[in-house]
Amino acid sequence: MNNQPASSSLKWSLRLGSLAGIPVYIHATFLILLLWIALSYWRSEQSLAAVIHGLGFILALFACVVLHELGHALTARRFGIRTRDITLLPIGGVASMEKMPDDPRQEILVALAGPAVNVLIAGLLWVWLSLQGALPASSSALLEGGVLQQLLALNLFLALFNLLPAFPMDGGRVLRAVLALRMDHLKATRSAAAIGQAFALWLGLVGLLYNPFLLFIALFVWIGAMAEAGSEEVKSLLHGSTLEHAVITHFETLSPRDALSRAIQLTLEGVQKDFPVLENGQIVGVLTQDDLLRGLQEQGALASVASYMQTDIPRAEIHEPLEKVMKELQDCPCHIVAVTRGGQLAGIINMENILELLRIEAALKGIGTGTS
Ligand SMILES: [Zn+2]
Repeated sequence: MNNQPASSSLKWSLRLGSLAGIPVYIHATFLILLLWIALSYWRSEQSLAAVIHGLGFILALFACVVLHELGHALTARRFGIRTRDITLLPIGGVASMEKMPDDPRQEILVALAGPAVNVLIAGLLWVWLSLQGALPASSSALLEGGVLQQLLALNLFLALFNLLPAFPMDGGRVLRAVLALRMDHLKATRSAAAIGQAFALWLGLVGLLYNPFLLFIALFVWIGAMAEAGSEEVKSLLHGSTLEHAVITHFETLSPRDALSRAIQLTLEGVQKDFPVLENGQIVGVLTQDDLLRGLQEQGALASVASYMQTDIPRAEIHEPLEKVMKELQDCPCHIVAVTRGGQLAGIINMENILELLRIEAALKGIGTGTS
């Protein structure tokens, strides 16, 4: 449905396979949706054929959603942007792109590519059905038709729904990009978010009067607009900042041979929660507070740090932009990124420190943003 930069595959997702080199995941809640549909068909029809028919239809519909996301992903690839994965959720699909194009013209094309795929599918179905003489006389009769007629109608719906001019819909991105042709990116995002929220209010009112389902969409749009505007504020505050601005250079460390009791002592003495584990001046792991507690529960305070530390630590050079590291921090269970200068450990960075920097930058610029 929407093409989000940031966060990679969500937890609780199963890998289905890959398309054009992009892994496709299905979220556990989607399986619950399938179960629910199977059960409701079974209840109303009491036949296995009806259940298979119902599930087949939903799977065909979600195949269209995957193709929609693939449209975004392949267009982004043309502009050199990788897509980490496509995940299917009960509310639609999400293509996690590394970033959105900086050029508004490219962003417009990437955003439009998804709905364009649904228009294309609807067009192909329309041609096929009209060759078969199976096209109903009116468009409203489509939904009462067979599977292909319903798929045609739903693909048109998907295209229109995603073109609503509000975040997190594709139409919201098109609107922002069109505005960004005339003004700077932050201003364009603010305006697009405001338009999206006005739209959400209107939708909510219509929903109150006519259809409660619209209220749900209005809420979704309202939250989407706020999230997009918020992340754009953060981006603009962090713009130009490198790791050097937020790196922590004073911190306690552990050795892999230390006992967990050493980590307890350090935890109680100070405010640090996650401890880099060093060997010969090189970072070999991190013991987070969760790792420590797990170790204490399983083996007690005499267990070694080495058996509970995490060894997969992201690294970044000190001159790299903070924005890039933020994404890695959000995805990594280790809570820190090892900051190096010329390959040597120069410090660590964690999310709390970046948030502190953000609050300071916001205060300096006189912006009252809540960045939490
Ligand atoms: Zn989309």
